[in-house]
Amino acid sequence: MNSMHETTEFDLQSRLPVARTPEQVRKKVAEARAKGHIIGFVPTMGALHAGHLSLIEHAKRRDAFVVVSIYVNPTQFAPHEDLSSYPRPFADDHRKCADAGVDLVFAPTDETMYPPGDETRVQPGALATGLCGPHRPGHFEGVCTVVARLFNLVAPDFACFGQKDAQQALIIKRMVTDLQYPIEIVVCPTLREPDGLALSSRNAYLSADERTRALCLYRALSAGRESLLTGNAAERAATVMHETIAQPAPPDAIDYLVAVDATNLQPVTEASRRVLLAGAIRIGKTRLIDNLLVDLPPQRT
Ligand code: AMP
Repeated sequence: MNSMHETTEFDLQSRLPVARTPEQVRKKVAEARAKGHIIGFVPTMGALHAGHLSLIEHAKRRDAFVVVSIYVNPTQFAPHEDLSSYPRPFADDHRKCADAGVDLVFAPTDETMYPPGDETRVQPGALATGLCGPHRPGHFEGVCTVVARLFNLVAPDFACFGQKDAQQALIIKRMVTDLQYPIEIVVCPTLREPDGLALSSRNAYLSADERTRALCLYRALSAGRESLLTGNAAERAATVMHETIAQPAPPDAIDYLVAVDATNLQPVTEASRRVLLAGAIRIGKTRLIDNLLVDLPPQRT
């Protein structure tokens, strides 16, 4: 039985190599470039689900050599958060990547990403001050720092991020512009369960009862969208979202539930064309985020 298991693992390794060090990842990427491939990159923290796979599919559709990083980045977790319990099903993830046609998995160690003596951080600006910012101190600094390092190591032509993490995607776009990375940032749509719940690695924490209650966020965002599309102002849409989430079973806490300008995360103004309805709630011990983008109808009062 053992030998069969080993053979399978060996086959998987040869089908989809795993780079662990900067040297390994740079060598594989250079080889792919030398063969004329463009490089597509999907950074993840693992515990892969269909949402992650949709980013990989997007990269595959561009005919790229696709690199997926799997790294639970400690600097983006605040001390009280779920770093130690975050799921790390590496063998499953590796198999999913192989089945999805990924060309290289980059799974660095903490020492690789944060070598001894490391002290440099990438500090985002105003985009990080609202929404999740105040509720997750240091989170976006950790995200920018790790993504900048991963971009330096993988040096992709484009990188795919999910609209599910709308604030993160905006901050990364800003960082790429400001730090002049020659990397296109592609933002892919949020994948959802049939009932609307956004796929998330953290959904695995939810009990059956919590899973039912978790839907309140999507219901509230949808009601906000409806309100905007019928011509209501953003303030009204925000009120509708709060009214909707309160009934029949409110979440255990609401970190925020807002309607903001989708380009800068600031209050919606006359000039706003696109609104981001965004929320973060707590169900039991689990923190969930979700959002919807709404293009405003042209004739608003
Ligand atoms: P994570 O592993 O949570 O850091 O997520 C890795 C990438 O997958 C990020 O760019 C996320 O925005 C994206 N992602 C997570 N959930 C979804 C989803 N439901 N639909 C689309 N993309 C997602």
